[in-house]
Order: sequence, then structure tokens, then C-alpha cells
Amino acid sequence: MADSMIIAIASGKGGTGKTTVATSLALSMAEPTLFLDCDVEEPNAALFLKPVLNHSEEVGILIPKVDEDRCTFCGRCAEVCVWHAIAVVGKKVLIFPELCQGCGSCTLNCPEGAIHEVLYVTGRLESGWAGPIQFGQGTLNIGEAMAVPVIRQLKQRYLPAVYGRVAILDAPPGTSCPVVETMRGADFVLLVTEPTPFGLHDLRLAAEVARGELGLPVGVVVNRDGIGDTGVDQYCAAEGIPILMRIPHDRRIAEAISAGQALVEALPEYRPRFQNLYQQIARELAVRRKGR
Ligand code: SF4
Ligand code: SF4
Repeated sequence: MADSMIIAIASGKGGTGKTTVATSLALSMAEPTLFLDCDVEEPNAALFLKPVLNHSEEVGILIPKVDEDRCTFCGRCAEVCVWHAIAVVGKKVLIFPELCQGCGSCTLNCPEGAIHEVLYVTGRLESGWAGPIQFGQGTLNIGEAMAVPVIRQLKQRYLPAVYGRVAILDAPPGTSCPVVETMRGADFVLLVTEPTPFGLHDLRLAAEVARGELGLPVGVVVNRDGIGDTGVDQYCAAEGIPILMRIPHDRRIAEAISAGQALVEALPEYRPRFQNLYQQIARELAVRRKGR
């Protein structure tokens, strides 16, 4: 394959089996694959892929540092900071790193050139290999609130080299900014859900983000098929969203996952089904790319 393909795997809520699907898809791929765990608040794909990590680096945002010898305490930096992350109190400039977004506006607007930027570490990127799968993950430091910059840097670090390969991005649960950041720039979003009213509710939200906000094609994997009702099927049929795979409610899967085993390693008969899932995504994308 010449084109790269970026598949984001998401779900409107946690516990739907998103990482189960993401890791088993990666382990079933015949194509060279890059796997990025973008769930930086709780990365756990490594438990199943068991990569050998050989690279680690700190990441964060650039925050202002004031040279008080040059500062005239004019207050301009505080005026331009919409995040209230910098304040001038008498002859003191106070910086609140946990509020700072690293936008650089204060530095640009300081009339005295008294601000330079320093790295404020909010997390870590690690990478390595799980057999033929190149693996990367981001981890947000405990107590830090801003997951988006860590996800952005994880993607910037590894996605430019994805040419000619498939990249699988395991998104955080939910539909907030970290999920949007993970999906942004993907070619396809695979939404994992359960056939229950709660599953349907969260699927709707996730589909609105992927299709509505980002304009991306989506497909669905129904996990624990057989429990619940037909609401997810009806919704997908009405919205024209393809259901690409169904994973039955099976006690053996739950046991494998709780033992830290990937689904396709515990139950290899699922491998062709995940290969088929990838082929369906590839076909959907080929049709879409042809139509452009
Ligand atoms: S804008 Fe520059 S000179 Fe003015 S208070 Fe801020 S750091 Fe000091
Ligand atoms: S970098 Fe942006 S967010 Fe941070 S203190 Fe300066 S203006 Fe505020």
C-alpha cells in the first residue's frame, strides 16, 4: 500500500472494549502498523501489546518566565492572557503554570522583551516495538489537567513517519477535547459501543463529534453483542453508519482481558474477523478517496 491510513478507535464512554478492539486489530494486521495509545490519562494498551520500550522523553508546554530586571510591571502580559495564567501584583509577576495554555501571547506582547519561554513538563512520551508493531504512548503526569498537549505531541512525534503504513490511535473515552484531538486528522473513526441504551447514548455523542464536528467517516463495532436491545442497530441503520463487526458477549473474552491477554491471542479464531474489519475500513476509504 502506498497511502497511509490513520484509524482512530473511540467510544463515548469507558469500559466498552475500545482498547480490546484497538489492540486486537493491531495484532491482526498483515500491514506494517503504528499503534499510538492516546489515552494519556490512563494508557493501558501496553498491558496487552507488551511492547519493549526503548525511548522515553519528557513533554510539556512552553510557559513564560519573566526577567524581573527588565520588567517594568506594566501589566500588559496579564491583560492579554485570556486564561488568567499570569498576574502582575505590585512589583511581582505571578505565573500559574497549571492555567497556562502555552499560547505565547504574553511573550509576544511584552514591550520590554522581558519574557522568555521555558518548558513546563506535563507528561512523557515512550516508544518501542511490540514485535512488528511500532508502539508509542503518552502519559500525563499525575495532577496535571491538560491531556491535549501530550496527545498532540505524541501524534506530532510519530505520525509524520507513518507514510505507507496503518496507524491505529487508541482514543481516550468520552467526547471531550482529548478525544477530538485524537480524532483530528484521522482518515476513519471506529466507534466501539454496547447494544444498550447507555451505549447508544454515548455512541450518538461520539458519532456527532466524529462526523459532525470533524467530518470524518465512521463505522461501528458492537461489543458484547447479545446483551441489551436493538437501539444501536436502529440508530446505525437510520444514520447510514455501517456496523463493521459484532463481538458476542463471551465470558472467555472477559477472562482473557482480566488476565492481561489480548483477545486475538486468547482466542486466535478472532484474528480473521479483525483482518476482515480492517479490509472493510480499507474498502470504505478507497471508495471515499475515489469519490474526491
Ligand atoms: S508585559 Fe513585560 S514588562 Fe509588562 S509586566 Fe509583563 S513581563 Fe513585565
Ligand atoms: S503563554 Fe498564553 S496562556 Fe500562558 S501565561 Fe502567556 S498568555 Fe497566558
